[in-house]
Amino acid sequence: MDTAHKTVNEKKEYFDSPELLEAKVTQLADMIKQSNHFVCFTGAGISTSAGIADFRSGVNTVLKTGPGLWEKMAQKVGNQPKKHKVIMSRAVPTKSHMALVKLNQEGILKYLISQNIDGLHRRSGFNPNSLSELHGNTNLEKCLKCGKSYMRDYRVRKALDVHDHLTGRICDNQKCGGELVDTIVNFGENLPKKDMEQGFFNSKQADLHLVLGSSLRVTPAADMPLATAQNGNKLVVVNLQKTPLDSLCALRIYALIDDVMVLLMKKLGLEIPEFILQRTIVIKKTNQNTINVFSEDKDGCPYDIFKQIVLDQGKKQPFEIQVKAPYIFNITNPQFAIKLGFFEHYKEGPFRLDLNLQNLPLGQKTKYLIQFSPKLQKWISCEKIQ
Ligand SMILES: [Zn+2]
Repeated sequence: MDTAHKTVNEKKEYFDSPELLEAKVTQLADMIKQSNHFVCFTGAGISTSAGIADFRSGVNTVLKTGPGLWEKMAQKVGNQPKKHKVIMSRAVPTKSHMALVKLNQEGILKYLISQNIDGLHRRSGFNPNSLSELHGNTNLEKCLKCGKSYMRDYRVRKALDVHDHLTGRICDNQKCGGELVDTIVNFGENLPKKDMEQGFFNSKQADLHLVLGSSLRVTPAADMPLATAQNGNKLVVVNLQKTPLDSLCALRIYALIDDVMVLLMKKLGLEIPEFILQRTIVIKKTNQNTINVFSEDKDGCPYDIFKQIVLDQGKKQPFEIQVKAPYIFNITNPQFAIKLGFFEHYKEGPFRLDLNLQNLPLGQKTKYLIQFSPKLQKWISCEKIQ
């Protein structure tokens, strides 16, 4: 199962000179402006600047995350320096992740395919409907029986055996009761059907396919950029090491991903947004004086983000603290507040939401979008969106 690079040449990292990089990124910006169906493909290289180690960097890599995981196994070298090791759930999406969010929001980037399981694209705010996570998402689990997806603000994988994926949790979809499994795809396992179909469909549609930080060694994922090139369309690869598709490239760039994306966005006249943690709070009045509080991701997927919820109904009423879903509260004072407690991966403190029972429509969802800035370390907005 060791797929580390074997030769010195494979491990070697190349860098374009600043002048050459400037010229190449200008060329890439022009290609993007002329494209009709621009698709991106990301590998571990986009997340190394977020502190997540990749797989195939050699022991002499320039990256602070150190040698790749397969390389370490092959070389039997110890762990990388701890200061650069980041827990995935605490990792902050990079400038490149955020540039892709902006390109998609502007309608320029039509589809994103990722090999990464770190979930950073989804967390960055990238539209999940325009995203294929080919090898799964460490925060996503699915029902074996009905296929329903569940996002969790914690690592869902519990199984120790490679091909065991049960998480021990149970589906609550209409009393389905099916067992939930993590979505991580290990070697030799099938890729998720929809993500794969969408990935190939968009790769064949693409007139420009930009690969960011993948050595393109793992198939069928690597067959997607290949499909674009085989259709006679433009393939651009940004990666420090050589890849097997280099000879098919319309443009080949040797540089760090963030360096390319920062320069590229400047040339396109677009600002890279700051990473903002977005949470959708859903409140449903299930009868005249009962409410259910939960959260959803952008695509409506249930999202388990609460560690606890406190019900505050004023001085005369006792506080009620619940620590487990479903969060169902009996309301006795129409003017009340819920204090939402989170897992605090970004040190996001509790958020207080003041509500009026009379303003909540019976049987319907009322949604609030609340936003937290990890940079400012505070909640910056709360907006009723439905
Ligand atoms: Zn189910």
